[in-house]
Amino acid sequence: MHTNYEVAVINYPLMDPRIKPADHRAYMQLDYTSADPWDVPIYIHIPFCESLCKFCVYSRQIPDSEKLLDSYVQALKKEISLYAKTPYIRSLRHRAVFIGGGTPTVLSGAQLADIIATLKNSLPLKNPEITVECNISNTDEEKLQMLCEAGVTRISTGVQTFNQKLRYTLGLRHTVNTIFRWINTVKKYPFRDLSIDLLFGLPGQTIKEFEQDLHTALSLPIDHISVYKLAVFAYVKLYKELETGNVPALPEETQLFEMFSAAQELLQGNHYILESAQEYCIPDHNTKFWQLTYDGYGDNLSFGASSFGYVNGISYQNIIDPADYIRTANEGTLPIHMVSHKITPQQLMERAMALGFRKGSVSKTTFNEQFDIQPEDKFGDTLQKLQQQEYILNGKTKYTLTPLGQYYQGNVSASFMQSAFENISPLKKKMAVGMHIIPEALQNEKAESDE
Ligand code: SF4
Repeated sequence: MHTNYEVAVINYPLMDPRIKPADHRAYMQLDYTSADPWDVPIYIHIPFCESLCKFCVYSRQIPDSEKLLDSYVQALKKEISLYAKTPYIRSLRHRAVFIGGGTPTVLSGAQLADIIATLKNSLPLKNPEITVECNISNTDEEKLQMLCEAGVTRISTGVQTFNQKLRYTLGLRHTVNTIFRWINTVKKYPFRDLSIDLLFGLPGQTIKEFEQDLHTALSLPIDHISVYKLAVFAYVKLYKELETGNVPALPEETQLFEMFSAAQELLQGNHYILESAQEYCIPDHNTKFWQLTYDGYGDNLSFGASSFGYVNGISYQNIIDPADYIRTANEGTLPIHMVSHKITPQQLMERAMALGFRKGSVSKTTFNEQFDIQPEDKFGDTLQKLQQQEYILNGKTKYTLTPLGQYYQGNVSASFMQSAFENISPLKKKMAVGMHIIPEALQNEKAESDE
């Protein structure tokens, strides 16, 4: 029986909300320069949506005024400038930007262009790949043109499914024909890539229906497809509808695995390349942002309320509530909610393995160059167990996830977080990974949220 981590392993080391630095800039040692050779991705979070999808687990709000959005953009610019003033951040090699959410396109074209211009003016960004996640409902042709002129190179949108019946079940607003028309409009502009998200494991979805979604995606001029399994958490509206039987039941685990395998076979059989456990792209259209985010070695800089980052050996999450985030940034203070301890030499290796497998493989050469030890000499037992479980393959130059390992990628990555999980029950592990905090702090966090 597998312990299924329904959560994405996105960062390591895990954080400890009990650490309360008086000065985050000093705690992260941002007054020194970095000698790191790694290119760095920048993530910008816009935690607002026009309406809330009934399956969504992400932290987002419906903005109650234009003024709030405007204040949020000003706070983001302030946060960027606070980091950009530090020698450490200025010495990094920033190469890819991803503006995600939420729904970044709740902002106007001018506001998004303003954020991009601030990044370009304050950080040493060289020919960056710039992605903006767009919602069809608030991204018209005029906004697309402004994004193109601002230097955006990738457009990404969450289609979820092309099946009209399932779109209705999920409460998705647009018809399939609207999506097709919008894709045609995007293709009028010279964006390098168009990316879509598809979900599988929807209520009542059959394998045939999911395969039809994949065939439809393959018939469109799309460069990148992310395929995610729907995870229904107890606090989302869809959970209640499933409980009361208002919507058909979710597919069984065996069907889910069949859907996952169908995506692998169909997409790879039609010239798409597997970019990570969940991402596929056509040749030469790899996403720099995802590659850098999960390289397992370099920093991940992030801005915006509730976003997660990793800078100079410290994982951090920003303040979650947008109003608190805006106030703190305007006070001239880094708007951080919680941090980890400084990463230890052991955790650096654990991070390389955990994030490397998030991307799909771990290069033995890079690991050895970095740490002067082979992965099998450090993690021999774990690697052997994962091979026995048929989750990974031991190749000449790298360890690679098998199709089964891709399906259980969360388990594979979490099995390397060893210094965080010594003598910890599987349930506690799952909670800790889901909340991004060390198991010892879980009790505290619960007590604080109960107050
Ligand atoms: S648009 Fe995306 S982020 Fe916003 S509620 Fe829907 S799924 Fe969640």
